Amino acid sequence: MKTTFKELRLNTSKRRELIDLTDEVDRAVRESGIENGMCLVYSMHSTSAIIINEGESGLMEDILDKIDEDFPRGRAWLHNRIDDNADAHLAGAFIGPSVVIPVKGGAPCLGTWQSLFFVELDGPRSGRRVIIEVLGT
Ligand code: ZN
Repeated sequence: MKTTFKELRLNTSKRRELIDLTDEVDRAVRESGIENGMCLVYSMHSTSAIIINEGESGLMEDILDKIDEDFPRGRAWLHNRIDDNADAHLAGAFIGPSVVIPVKGGAPCLGTWQSLFFVELDGPRSGRRVIIEVLGT
């Protein structure tokens, strides 16, 4: 069993946006030399998330619209008295901070229409930390 650990630093430019990390994940898995196992992609922040879905531009907007609809900023969330970003924490909690992708034949098992995205929920921010850990043989 072998593991490799890589940390990305991301700078985001909008309050909410999707950042495509598919190529970064692909590179991390191939560089790991691991043939069979799994790849964890994990964001170290409570106002962000990680998702897998299609990287079509209209759908990417739809995903952000749906997050806005489900987690509206305008409500009197209790956490807003701290730093006015309860909507971002709630979206992060319900979408989730990580995904695990199977690794087979030295590559991540992502389907043709599957891309992996970091979801910024309370940007713009600098130095967002995302871990890519590959584990296997
Ligand atoms: Zn907060």
